[in-house]
Amino acid sequence: MTQDEIRYRGAVLSEGVAIGSLYLLKSHEDWVIPEFSITAAKIDQEIERYRSARTRSKKELETLRGVLKDEGSLEAVTIIDSHIQMLEDPFLIDGVEGKIRDLQKNTESVFKNVIDEYVGYFHNLEDHAMQERAIDVKDLSSRIMKHLHRQQASSNTIPLQSIVYSYELIPSQTAEVSPNHVKAFLTEIGGRTSHAALIARSKGLPYLSNISLEWVKEHEGASIILDGNEGLVIVYPTVETLTYYKALEQKRPYFIPKDSLPITPETQDGTPITVYANLESLYDLHLLREYKVSGIGLVRTEFLYLKKELVAFDENEQFLLYRKLLQLAGNMEVTFRLFDLGSDKKLFCSPILEPNPALGCRSLRFLMRYQDLFRSQVRALLRASQFGELKILLPLVTDVQELLEAKAFIAKEREALLEKGVKVADVIPIGCMVEVPAFVIMCDQLVKHCDFLSIGTNDLTQYTLAADRSNPETCYRYGPLHESVQRMIKLVVEEANKNGIPVSVCGEVASNLAFTQTLLELGVRIFSASPRFIPLLKEKIQTLTLYTGSF
Ligand code: PEP
Ligand code: MG
Repeated sequence: MTQDEIRYRGAVLSEGVAIGSLYLLKSHEDWVIPEFSITAAKIDQEIERYRSARTRSKKELETLRGVLKDEGSLEAVTIIDSHIQMLEDPFLIDGVEGKIRDLQKNTESVFKNVIDEYVGYFHNLEDHAMQERAIDVKDLSSRIMKHLHRQQASSNTIPLQSIVYSYELIPSQTAEVSPNHVKAFLTEIGGRTSHAALIARSKGLPYLSNISLEWVKEHEGASIILDGNEGLVIVYPTVETLTYYKALEQKRPYFIPKDSLPITPETQDGTPITVYANLESLYDLHLLREYKVSGIGLVRTEFLYLKKELVAFDENEQFLLYRKLLQLAGNMEVTFRLFDLGSDKKLFCSPILEPNPALGCRSLRFLMRYQDLFRSQVRALLRASQFGELKILLPLVTDVQELLEAKAFIAKEREALLEKGVKVADVIPIGCMVEVPAFVIMCDQLVKHCDFLSIGTNDLTQYTLAADRSNPETCYRYGPLHESVQRMIKLVVEEANKNGIPVSVCGEVASNLAFTQTLLELGVRIFSASPRFIPLLKEKIQTLTLYTGSF
């Protein structure tokens, strides 16, 4: 008897298409940890066993770090670095060793109790960033536990070409697999900003969450299709569905012959579309030449700091880095977005405690409040401007007053530098991120003070739908491009066109091929996408015809 095709919906954490067999990964939380008392004479031996497990874990992490660096997965390197640092945390050293002495219990049981307590503490904080830290602690603890206790689930046991399911993924599970071995991931819980998702994206592995364990148990071992563009899992596909997805799977970014890519792709009816790249690390610059991008539409400068390419917010250090980036970019335009700090990006510095950080002192508001930081970045950028085609992008602009204040601040710093005889480029376009509905409503006024616009659909969606972007439940509910946001894009594009200034879309949806046609229909002609999706995006654009009907 043949089964009818079944389709399930999940939340997209990493885009792409994969076909493979569904493999259920055993969680380390399923391990049975023995607990027994030890004699005083055995205490030193148990502590030694613990130290050796930590040393082995460290060696393993250092090896993994090397592999990830060679793979070019810098996001993963940063996360593994934080695990190496965590190994030196006193709670993992004195906390555990002290309790082995005091309680006279075997190492595994003491270690498990200390970790459970620590993880519980982070979980109760009800803050996404802190919960993320809890997952990192769990991740590191399962690595150590693996060396203490021999029952283990390792990536080596995963069959080739699997689509791996786990209730929850920890960063190491995505970091340790090779994209040639595992094809994709599915989980029940997990958000787009989780470390596991970040690593999956950096490796080009598709990943969906919100898929229930009960469902997976029913279909374990089946050959399934994961569509990480539309957020679908398909079981028992028809021959047509399978043929369609096999063709799509072949088009993973790595398989597109790059020589055939034009700099500016054209739609079937001859409309040229500009494709820029979003950049979070200097490392990705080499991809941009290969993929022949027209420019860099968004440098998330705060990520240069997160990824430790920038160590301090010191003006001169910033200047050297921005200059290097401009020089490496050659004659490409480079759009530097000023530090987008606050809200979920409070890792860097969080001097203020706020009840509602996403609606609080973030982004441009943060810079206006901490003017030394604002000044250091503006001066560094102005000084670097003579070394390339630099543009400045202001994050989360909300009203005219704020925009004028920010522009006056930049103009003042420019004057101060010129007075000192420092060279600054004659023309530095200043643009705004469109991320707040108030901007869209007042766009006719704001646009008059902008040299360009860039629509940040990630935040625009969050603020339009009042739906936390880092919460998988709310992201999943409204999809990547809700109709309300589509209407906003259309409004903004029309205002920009009326005023003759360029407008791009730089949110995640620009990389999502399921929405390329829609964005074109809304009038978007400049896309700024994640580097790894650029070959696919260019190819997709070349297959589309512009819709001429009304929206
Ligand atoms: C956005 O909000 O769409 C955007 C591009 O900015 P970020 O994702 O860095 O907040
Ligand atoms: Mg944003």
